[in-house]
Amino acid sequence: MNVVLYIGSAIVTLWLIGGIYRQKQGRNKVVYAVKGNCTGCKRCVTNLRKCKYNVLELVCDENGKHIVVKYPDKCTACGDCVSICKFKALELVECNPPK
Ligand code: SF4
Ligand code: SF4
Repeated sequence: MNVVLYIGSAIVTLWLIGGIYRQKQGRNKVVYAVKGNCTGCKRCVTNLRKCKYNVLELVCDENGKHIVVKYPDKCTACGDCVSICKFKALELVECNPPK
């Protein structure tokens, strides 16, 4: 029983450390929706690993269903949505790209 507890604790600890590392890596980055790539599949807004901060919103307009970055200020650049999207419609970009 203790072994299961140790393994569970180790997994949770590694997951937390990974989250902190990913956030640190993306401190100066923000998510960007690549025009024309989104199929409107909804994975990034309905999947179990969807954005926890509700940064993204699926809209339906003259260009069809696609994702928009509605609240970029809330984006932690964790990268979860980028890894979920199979269509390369989401990227992490520099907040203030060098000129
Ligand atoms: S951004 Fe990617 S995952 Fe999200 S709805 Fe568009 S295609 Fe699907
Ligand atoms: S990078 Fe993280 S915080 Fe930013 S929109 Fe994607 S899932 Fe949300």
